[in-house]
Amino acid sequence: MRADRPRLSPGGAAALLGELFGVAADDARDLGSERDQAFLVFSCGSPVAVLKVSNPAEDPEVLDMESAAARHVHHVDPGLGVALPWTVPGRPDTYRAEWSEGACWVRAYDVLAGTGRVSATTLDDRALRAWGSTSARLGRALRGFTHPKAHRTMPWDVQHTARARDLLGHIPDDAERAAVERVVDRFEEVVAPAWPRLRTQVVHGDLTVDNALTAADGTVSGIVDFGDMSHATLLTDLAPLLESLVCGRTGEEMFRAARLVLDGYEQVTPLEPEEVDLLAEVWAARSALTIAISEWRVAQGLEDPVFARRYNAPAAATIAGLEAVGWDGARRRLGGRRVEAPTAGLARRRDAVFGPATEPLSYDEPLHVASAEGVWITDVAGRRYLDCYNNVPCVGHAHPRVTAAISRQARRINTHTRYLSEPAVELAERLVASCPPGLDTVLFVNSGSEANDLAWRLARAATGRDGVLCTDFAYHGLTEAVAAVSPEAWLDGRGPDHVETWTPPDPYRGTALGEESFAAALERLRARGHEPAAVYLDPLLTSDGVVDLDPAHVRALHRRAKAAGALWIADEVQAGHGRTGEALWAFSRFGIEPDFVTLGKPMGNGHPVAAVITRSDLVRATVGRTVIFSTFGGNPVSAAAALAVLDVIDDERVLDRVRHTGETLRAALRALADRHPAIGDVRGAGLAVGVEIVHPGGTRPDRATAVAVRDGLRGRGVLVGTTARAGNVLKIRPPLAFTDREVPVLVDALDAALAEQTGR
Ligand code: PMP
Repeated sequence: MRADRPRLSPGGAAALLGELFGVAADDARDLGSERDQAFLVFSCGSPVAVLKVSNPAEDPEVLDMESAAARHVHHVDPGLGVALPWTVPGRPDTYRAEWSEGACWVRAYDVLAGTGRVSATTLDDRALRAWGSTSARLGRALRGFTHPKAHRTMPWDVQHTARARDLLGHIPDDAERAAVERVVDRFEEVVAPAWPRLRTQVVHGDLTVDNALTAADGTVSGIVDFGDMSHATLLTDLAPLLESLVCGRTGEEMFRAARLVLDGYEQVTPLEPEEVDLLAEVWAARSALTIAISEWRVAQGLEDPVFARRYNAPAAATIAGLEAVGWDGARRRLGGRRVEAPTAGLARRRDAVFGPATEPLSYDEPLHVASAEGVWITDVAGRRYLDCYNNVPCVGHAHPRVTAAISRQARRINTHTRYLSEPAVELAERLVASCPPGLDTVLFVNSGSEANDLAWRLARAATGRDGVLCTDFAYHGLTEAVAAVSPEAWLDGRGPDHVETWTPPDPYRGTALGEESFAAALERLRARGHEPAAVYLDPLLTSDGVVDLDPAHVRALHRRAKAAGALWIADEVQAGHGRTGEALWAFSRFGIEPDFVTLGKPMGNGHPVAAVITRSDLVRATVGRTVIFSTFGGNPVSAAAALAVLDVIDDERVLDRVRHTGETLRAALRALADRHPAIGDVRGAGLAVGVEIVHPGGTRPDRATAVAVRDGLRGRGVLVGTTARAGNVLKIRPPLAFTDREVPVLVDALDAALAEQTGR
């Protein structure tokens, strides 16, 4: 940086082009450069080449690297418009000629169309995005490029921000010096430790308005300088891009413009979360370097002060703009991690906007979640919880296969099933293949409620009837039609006239009410003038207390339903997708063929997607009478998520794991029951487990202890729920990523929570 620029006159440049590259020229214009000299060379008034006279201190191999990089980029992405170097006449593969008088290397480049040094404030939104995309394309084109000389230290690379500390003394303005120092402090604290983790490659390092030509619309038409390239992080590329393009914009406009640039960038190269989180600091760091290095150069007498300082005022304004909203505020404005609001305040805001009818938060002290992985949830305070409650993230929280499938498809296209696209069709085919042969039709919706609602509509249309049966304390959903078959949600205890409930067997208490209760419910329905159209059954009776139904018993109910002309709706929203470990669908354990299978919750591992699987003859009844379409139902992103879930279930042999872990867990819980008389029963299938809490010495449900134990488990870092009409059954229903390793964590915590409550 100290070396003097070469001193060639414009006339000398024109002559040199002829001398070294054999092209006659008669005039040249100095383009201005920090360390080198660059001339636009003319012949008879027309530009013929750009001549670059390198600093005498420049390593010729570095110049060769720049030439090779430009040619590489041109080869990979010709549309980028990179200025290509000329070969020296008679010397193929040689791109530099020696100007012996100046002891310098000289290169000639094609002249590209466009305006140089456009003012960034004139760029419109479209141009800002396009600049972002161009930068990312340039980075992508360089990904496969490597060169030993790329491993070099570039003073302008933000990774060397700490060096600005040594230059502080050269900054005459007190406020600017203090601002640069604060940015350096922040950089060392936050960015430097993360730097070794960031993605690196050979980057251009300086795509700015000074190093690119623009078309009339402000988009980049030519990239002319690889002089700052090095092996560095992607942030090394992004910092000067942001600094240059947002230069001159202040306040919220500064962030809006930056977001547009980043949109363009991420359209080509999505950033990693950590990269996004550091954007504000590296942007500020680049501005700090601008001030520090230019003042140092002025102090050394290396550059004209006015020219050298031309970006200092906007750089100081950028730092001020970032500091004005605070680092957290800037990070959030640039799409990075948010700082969660304090828990109590957030809970109040939630209640205020969600209103009094929404389900209250779980636990007196709400769980304020930050992230999750597999079977572990981390809260905002960094505490980890073993998740034994959530069945939705069935293959594990944030499963990489599912999150990747979602983001990849979202980046490609997301529309609806009125347009043809592969994922929904493939998903439907996979679902049909997973069911008994008659179930040949799939209708996509967005929630378990909608699936059950649609099944109900179809059942009514197919049978022409309006009666329906469900279990005593079932839950099948939110819509008016299915809230009617959700006694769990009938807070006044009464359902509509066309609904009847039956009481499932309670093997623990030795009551085998099931079949008679079912028959009696059918009779009551008919007596009220409602012939049964459908029977809903959650094969695991999750809301009724997690009951392990006897297959023979269910077959008997199914026969009765069929004899009564009712259709059977297997609600697999809870029990499906491998929860029982025996098969993908829990109804298969009964050996029955339902008329409808409804899917939801785990289907997209948390992404909303749901379906009804049924028979084409049942759907036919609605043809011509109505159309069945859900805008989001089966959209390509949801379908991609659901396909990924099915793939993971296969690839990780989830069913085997669930069977094995479920047995281990129940055995461990039963062993615990020997020491804790409050545990009346341990039951369930696969990873759906009910632990019935009773008053010791009998079978009387003990809701208070169940709730206290649930809360005690939370205090010990384990999440479970409660269920059943009496509210006394611990509902243990972890993501299917739960393994033997987690069993003791849960069982030991339960042991301690029970001991705390019961004194044993
Ligand atoms: N069916 C069953 C068995 C359920 O447990 C639920 C939700 N708990 C639903 C349907 C409704 O699903 P959603 O909340 O996705 O609408």
